[in-house]
Amino acid sequence: MKVVETPLDLYNILKSSYGKKRIGFVPTMGALHEGHLSLVRKCKEQCDITVVSIFVNPSQFAPGEDFEKYPRLFSEDASLLEKGKVDILFHPSVSVIYPKGFSTAVEVEGITNVLCGKSRPSHFRGVTTVVAKLFNIVSPTDAYFGEKDFQQLKVIKKMTEDLNMKINIHGVEIARDKNLLALSSRNAYLSKDEYEDALLLNKAITEAKRIYMEGEVLSCKIKKAVKKILKSGKSLKIDYIALVGEDLRKTKKVDDNTRILLAVYCGKTRLIDNASLKQGILYR
Ligand code: AMP
Repeated sequence: MKVVETPLDLYNILKSSYGKKRIGFVPTMGALHEGHLSLVRKCKEQCDITVVSIFVNPSQFAPGEDFEKYPRLFSEDASLLEKGKVDILFHPSVSVIYPKGFSTAVEVEGITNVLCGKSRPSHFRGVTTVVAKLFNIVSPTDAYFGEKDFQQLKVIKKMTEDLNMKINIHGVEIARDKNLLALSSRNAYLSKDEYEDALLLNKAITEAKRIYMEGEVLSCKIKKAVKKILKSGKSLKIDYIALVGEDLRKTKKVDDNTRILLAVYCGKTRLIDNASLKQGILYR
């Protein structure tokens, strides 16, 4: 695996492959876990060359969020990617991505104002700006994002569509631990008691699916049951419980195209999880 830190070094490695090979890209903020590695595996299955980036992007954190304490585990991450037979690891510094005088932003409107965008108003602007920049640096044919960050996946798809970026965006299903907690680099912040409470997110989602499978279609009824479960966790504080359609707008009546999305503070750690309500699929 080649490790590079500048766009020029990356270009020099990739230039002979542009137009000839399928170049897959997996952007991450590091502190890698099985969720990130499932994106890498999907990318490797479908592409000739796999590029992974590790960059903790300051512009997607609001003041007071966890940018400073976000886990940075570069050597562990690099060895996981090496084992996973990644071809190139791109690890730029903040000054490479945002040199002095950087003054451009990419912003998707509409779907960024709801859900996580409501609680974290500058977040998606930071995400789309850095992802657009990384897309221009890597020039991949394909890019892989987790359904764990379902709204982010939608926002990236919209950005590539709106800006005619010729990149296939692939969503990869949520990887969970043995107790079905959605994997996240932020799970490392959880105390033992908070971890137990965090398991209620998936429990609540599973209950929503069960109620729907039994015939309930009213969002308010499903939300009430979900709220009850989440409220039983001492360390949990609900940010939102949403039942949304394809456009991420809330629906009063649910169907197979509805997704349930949760954002919950577990102590100081903000956790998100989501699943399709579609019949028959329990943990997706
Ligand atoms: P992050 O490092 O948190 O920015 O995540 C990098 C990518 O990994 C994003 O596309 C995430 O959606 C994806 N990801 C994070 N956690 C998971 C998970 N548990 N399952 C699948 N993908 C994930």
